[in-house]
Amino acid sequence: MVEKGLLIVLSGPSGVGKGTVRKEIFSQKNTSFEYSISMTTRSPRAGEVDGVDYFFKSREEFEDLIEQGKLLEYAEFVGNYYGTPVDYVRETTLKGKDVFLEIEVEGAKQVREKFPDGLFIFLSPPSLSELKNRIVTRGTESEEIINNRMNVAREEIEMMHLYDYVVENDTVENACEKIKAIIVAEHCRRERVEPKYKKMLEAN
Ligand code: 5GP
Repeated sequence: MVEKGLLIVLSGPSGVGKGTVRKEIFSQKNTSFEYSISMTTRSPRAGEVDGVDYFFKSREEFEDLIEQGKLLEYAEFVGNYYGTPVDYVRETTLKGKDVFLEIEVEGAKQVREKFPDGLFIFLSPPSLSELKNRIVTRGTESEEIINNRMNVAREEIEMMHLYDYVVENDTVENACEKIKAIIVAEHCRRERVEPKYKKMLEAN
């Protein structure tokens, strides 16, 4: 029997740099886990490609997916739906591969309830002012949306207690190194490794 892959969840406040960190991790050659592409109802930003960055859906299509139970989790974030396709996660972990989700905190909370043995990593901002700076310099959001995102971010930081690890995003490079190290360590966790050795002892 193949050992099930890990479900890795990277989350944290809006604007903390989850997307940047995730892209950097996946741009590296030795990545051994699969990225789960999310569904969203928001419009593509310049340069974003359907089926690569997101699966872009209409609200109607998204609500159908919810009804059909096709989403592992979903959340409405600043006026748009975002969600994780459940089949991809199930099939990939069953094949023994790790799956990496990069999602906002409400969705991560839902995943924690369904998969308590997942690996939950919280990406934190060095400070609130730094966080605002990052959202503003991204330049894609109106002032109203920026303020809205900052309010959401404060509430999101308070949800840190639901996570196994906290990684400060001081630099993208440091954050990526720490996340990769956490994943390696998680695979060595005694509770995860022990069943394999129990079987080995039983067989001999
Ligand atoms: P953006 O619109 O900037 O791409 O993403 C907005 C927020 O939605 C980010 O915090 C991102 O991590 C989150 N997000 C992306 N995909 C998903 C998903 O499948 N589920 C949930 N709950 N959040 C997601």
